[in-house]
Amino acid sequence: MCGSCGCSTELHQTNWQGKGRSISLEVDLLADNNERASANRDWFREHGVLALNFLSSPGSGKTTLLVQSLKALQSDYQFMVIEGDQQTDNDAERIRSTGVPALQINTGRGCHLDSVMVSRALEQLHPLDNSFLFIENVGNLVCPALFDLGEAFKIVILSVTEGEDKPLKYPDIFNAADLVLLTKIDLLPYLRFDIDRCREYLQRIKPGIAMIQLSAQEEMGMADWYRWLAAAFDERCQED
Ligand code: MG
Ligand code: ZN
Repeated sequence: MCGSCGCSTELHQTNWQGKGRSISLEVDLLADNNERASANRDWFREHGVLALNFLSSPGSGKTTLLVQSLKALQSDYQFMVIEGDQQTDNDAERIRSTGVPALQINTGRGCHLDSVMVSRALEQLHPLDNSFLFIENVGNLVCPALFDLGEAFKIVILSVTEGEDKPLKYPDIFNAADLVLLTKIDLLPYLRFDIDRCREYLQRIKPGIAMIQLSAQEEMGMADWYRWLAAAFDERCQED
């Protein structure tokens, strides 16, 4: 998967002969990415834009969550959305149907968004001052963890149709997270998903992290999520 983007050290170590060289390539790639990410972050802070990077595996319900959140909150705040997928404009179309401007980035063979893609998208989207920017990353629990986009917070979405041991299997992304949203909880009666165990695994990887349980489809737990967004928005200019 990451062969096209060159972001996995382990993959290079197993596939390439020149081990040392591949590792320095990764370091350069991430250094370039971090530089642009910090320029993005400065720009967001100057303009009072709260940028959130949404990360998950494919099919966790990211777009549904964003659509429901936009419908509920767009009378109180201004929003812009960047959608990342390998192909299609489908998710951006779903966002636009709410009336919120959305820009689709197709990464082709690439499996994550990077900070240059986001800064180019900003030139087209022109987010308003004092607004939210939602960035829906490519569905992938591996390399998006490595690529800072300049966001204020990384929000990892885990649905109850996945295993409760995802935090143990993909520790990097859960360790990078600022908040975890456990989605599709309306399906719990039909599944053997153990929430307590999931929470325990998550705390093992990232002690103290908050997890909000919700169902966007059935509008369960959404008030907690909206409270989190409102508090983060109010504090957006004070954070480090
Ligand atoms: Mg999506
Ligand atoms: Zn990647």
